[in-house]
Amino acid sequence: METYQIIQDGDDYLLPVYNRQKIVLMRGEGNQVYDSERTVYLDFFSGIAVNGLGQAYPEVVNAIIEETKKLGHVSNYYYNEPNVKLAKLLCDVSFAQKVFFCNSGTEAVEAAIKLARKCFRREGQDKFEVISFHNSFHGRTYGSLSATGQVKYQEGLEPLLPGFKFANFNNIDSVKKLIGEKTAAVLVETIQCEGGIYPAEPKFMTELRELTKEKGIFLILDEVQTGMGRTGKMWAYQHYGIEPDMMTSAKALGGGLPMGALLVTNQAAQGFKPGDHASTFGGNPIVSAASIATIEAILMKDLVAHAAKEGEYLKLALMDLQKENPKLFTEVRGKGLLLGLEMTRKAGSLVNHCLHQGLLIGTAHETVLRFTPPLITTKSDIDLALAKLRKAIVEELKTA
Ligand SMILES: *Cc1c(COP(=O)(O)O)cnc(C)c1O
Repeated sequence: METYQIIQDGDDYLLPVYNRQKIVLMRGEGNQVYDSERTVYLDFFSGIAVNGLGQAYPEVVNAIIEETKKLGHVSNYYYNEPNVKLAKLLCDVSFAQKVFFCNSGTEAVEAAIKLARKCFRREGQDKFEVISFHNSFHGRTYGSLSATGQVKYQEGLEPLLPGFKFANFNNIDSVKKLIGEKTAAVLVETIQCEGGIYPAEPKFMTELRELTKEKGIFLILDEVQTGMGRTGKMWAYQHYGIEPDMMTSAKALGGGLPMGALLVTNQAAQGFKPGDHASTFGGNPIVSAASIATIEAILMKDLVAHAAKEGEYLKLALMDLQKENPKLFTEVRGKGLLLGLEMTRKAGSLVNHCLHQGLLIGTAHETVLRFTPPLITTKSDIDLALAKLRKAIVEELKTA
């Protein structure tokens, strides 16, 4: 099909919920992606922090092919080996002792909310409220949307679910004020991502852990975007020397295939009994095989340490860029290969200029340029990206 035809049919037949760039991506290899006109792009977006190993990572491709030949889908009324192996592997590389599998980040958050409520109800306690944070993002289904602290995602979709309260991020007193008899859990992103790349402060995280322990309520970390090595630790909570009761994962978890998971302690796991929660596709053997291959590659190639190192290099380069252009950029935030560059204007136009220079990059919260390159990114990739970004900035500065 001709490129213009694909784009026109896309606009004709797809619900218009995305502002798409007018390119059609056809194939990729590592951090290079090609469009239908054979233009090559350096990928610093990774499909919203999904492709941790880049495109078409051979071991992941192989795992998918081999498993597809053996077993396509089976229901959760039976065991399947890749899924059991994956659950064990995830517990090995995290605080968790039990895992529930689903297909997306929002579903993992839903599972966490349900489990928190169910745990208390099972003990005959009427605790159901969840405290989350202003400027947070937890997903688009009604539970996680109700937990999301940004009106722009909620407008026109009311009524939202009751039982959610919002504290101020990095402000422990605001959490203390909201905790009451009905509170079941505090739900927080370790780094607020869609909100503009704001890391939790170490003191806030330790105080939040102490507070939730003291009150006997759950600390749920939303690590949908921050997990799987992205921040220079396997999970971002490992920067803080704390462990949550529950943690959500998705995005990079399935090695590019759709997968979400809720990871919990044995204690939290008590809340669910057979029939309390389910997902038809959750933990499907093919996705599980892809996820195992992804985690094994991350471990074998030591990509977590690599992400920390390259992330530091990128961060310093972005700080230089900020100093060179103080009128355009105000701050660099983030950890590892999850970085935000705050702009004095909307970031969309600069993203377009980057695209024309052959660099795929994201935004967060309108005025923040978001860098989430694959974990395999090297210093020379970063140098190349910065060269493209500098050219894009020249273009950007021509417009007002
Ligand atoms: C992307 C994201 C979600 C939602 O994940 P989906 O797979 O799109 O449902 C939830 N929480 C955080 C922190 C995210 O970044």
